[in-house]
Amino acid sequence: MRVDPLAYLATELQTLKDQKLYRQLRILEDEQKAHTTFDHKSVVNLSSNNYLGLTTHPRLRERALKAVEEYGVGTGSVRTIAGTMDIHMALERKLADFKQVEKVVVFQSGFTANAGTVSGILTKDDVVISDELNHASIIDGCRLSRAAIKVFPHKDVDAARRIIQQLPASQRKLLITDGVFSMDGDLGPLPALCDLAEETGCIMMVDDAHASGVFGRNGRGTIDHFGVHGRVDIQVGTLSKAIGALGGYVAGNANLIEFLYHRARPFLFSTSHPPAVVLACMAAIDVLLEEPALIERLWDNTRFFKEGLQRLGFDTGMSESPITPVIAGDGAKAMLLSDKLFERGVFAQGIAFPTVARDKARVRTIVTATHTREDLQYALDAFAAVGRELGLI
Ligand SMILES: *Cc1c(COP(=O)(O)O)cnc(C)c1O
Repeated sequence: MRVDPLAYLATELQTLKDQKLYRQLRILEDEQKAHTTFDHKSVVNLSSNNYLGLTTHPRLRERALKAVEEYGVGTGSVRTIAGTMDIHMALERKLADFKQVEKVVVFQSGFTANAGTVSGILTKDDVVISDELNHASIIDGCRLSRAAIKVFPHKDVDAARRIIQQLPASQRKLLITDGVFSMDGDLGPLPALCDLAEETGCIMMVDDAHASGVFGRNGRGTIDHFGVHGRVDIQVGTLSKAIGALGGYVAGNANLIEFLYHRARPFLFSTSHPPAVVLACMAAIDVLLEEPALIERLWDNTRFFKEGLQRLGFDTGMSESPITPVIAGDGAKAMLLSDKLFERGVFAQGIAFPTVARDKARVRTIVTATHTREDLQYALDAFAAVGRELGLI
């Protein structure tokens, strides 16, 4: 009989089970919304990135349905061969106007936008100076570029400066940070990093995946929030989180975007967005511009929920955004917290190593504009009961 060459994977899985880190996927049996059904259980949903409830917004739904009628369901090609429709160009123009930049290129996801851009613009002779908590897609882009990677401690601009000062002045350098850090909900120190990039001639790049639709005027992101327009060479955004559909984009000057049209491998080698996604994303930008009350409600809910958790005595880290971690300690404890909350009708995903440090395992909560006060109070009551049971408060 043939020996299974993948048998080592079973061993790895058993290790995860022994460490209580093995996870079944939670199955969503309804729409992605604030109160919904996972695994046959009706829950308050604190685990999605659907900040503004746009996954089910009537304007996006309607536009996507019409798109299928007008354009069909697929594009049949990559952008660089036959897969660029007029609506792809219209979405890129709309995003460029929204972000106040010369040009935008849309990718299939935020992941491919980061990975494709970093690997596209750098070579093995270059160096990346990267915050230790930057997103995995940035790290993968760095690896694909074969550039040297220098990691600085979280938000430590002085440490980044010391790294840069030891590098040859002539070497090309990319300084990169998340706008909002996805596991802690704190903000990258953009003004100080922009100063550093300007002093030292670095390319400045910000991944604003969790900031689009959340920070800045009408959700223009952290560049707008901090007033650093024109000082960030490469902005990455996602269309998969607050925008409610799917995709990523890079915003910058015309040379950058035209270069990416020629050299970003996910753009060259993977099929473009289906029409329904493109037109839903365009409708989402209209919603950001015309329904700012949604963003206000998101922030009202954020304050209410964050203050509630803090009043109960939970360790909520350094969050400045609608992402609020509830730190539990080791991975097994975080998973237990998540499971016990779920039994009480609250879905907040447990997150452990390697996504976060071993002793900083947590459940991550994300409130949205569409949670009611009753939803949030219900969730706080569940946190209080389970937190006491587990000795966290
Ligand atoms: C979610 C996320 C991405 C990836 O975006 P997708 O559109 O889901 O691929 C990239 N960067 C950060 C910081 C993120 O949080």
